[in-house]
Amino acid sequence: MARIAFIGLGHMGGGMAPNLVKAGHDVWAFDLSDQALDAAVKAGCNRAGSADEASENADAVITMLPAAKHVLEVYRNHVLDSAPPNALLIDCSTIDVASARTIEGEAADRGFDMVDAPVSGGIAAAAGGSLAFMVGGSGKAFERARPILEPMAKAVIQAGGPGAGQAAKICNNMILGATMAATCEGFVLAQKLGLDPQVFFDISSQASGQSWSMTSYCPVPGVGPKTPADNDYEGGFAAALMLKDLKLAMEAAKQAGVDAVMGEEAEELYEEFVESGGGNKDFSGIIKMIDGSWKA
Ligand code: NAD
Repeated sequence: MARIAFIGLGHMGGGMAPNLVKAGHDVWAFDLSDQALDAAVKAGCNRAGSADEASENADAVITMLPAAKHVLEVYRNHVLDSAPPNALLIDCSTIDVASARTIEGEAADRGFDMVDAPVSGGIAAAAGGSLAFMVGGSGKAFERARPILEPMAKAVIQAGGPGAGQAAKICNNMILGATMAATCEGFVLAQKLGLDPQVFFDISSQASGQSWSMTSYCPVPGVGPKTPADNDYEGGFAAALMLKDLKLAMEAAKQAGVDAVMGEEAEELYEEFVESGGGNKDFSGIIKMIDGSWKA
């Protein structure tokens, strides 16, 4: 059993922390939101009064925060000063590669092992303990992180050195954003050409147009497995979060000198959808913008 600080108990962290409690860990939770913290305490976590209090005496500190600025603030102003020197630091938030490397470098300068461990899988996978963790950091830090992440995971994979987890996450989501947009366009055009969506699905899902966006997350209601499309695009993975990841990918592509045209097109489409009020809709909801039926 380890003493684990868990900072950031929102949609994701609020589901993840209770799985560490169920695995027998002593979890000290902190969130700026009283409501989020109350829910974590109800689920068996201990209430910490601050990020510092949570980190003191921790064997491991896990953060699940909205964006890079929150991550930098929490580590620089709290965790790096309060955690004991042998504590393992694990940031599960999705942030840009450069910020992940910066904060991991600052942690290493203070003698800490730290990994970036962003996740794939949404709120249901967080609550169900079936997230995929993509981990960046040294081999030693990864081996320390693996048993702590396992109760929250269906897979824990080392992506490479510091920042590599974030790199894998944004490249994966750049592919996802572009394939979802292409899949939506395919279904809309098929329908305009007189094809029944189910018939098109039966053909394309067994042909070379097949992708995860089509067979596991079909954007057309009533076709394929049950998805957010069957619930008027509610729940699932918010378009605003997809846009956030595409912006991170485009920033990384610019820095790396990669001309990622498809990623850029996907970013523009999601920007338009979010600006027209679709930010809280599932990301497959852009099919409505593409077929012209979208009303915020
Ligand atoms: P969220 O906004 O629901 O939760 C973030 C929590 O952090 C909030 O409860 C907020 O109060 C808390 N917080 C912010 N600043 C804080 C601080 N200084 N100290 C303590 N707590 C603080 O976000 P989420 O949906 O849980 O996402 C968290 C991260 O996971 C994001 O980086 C997101 O991109 C990533 N992610 C989300 C999903 C998803 O489906 N929601 C899927 C994969 C990855």
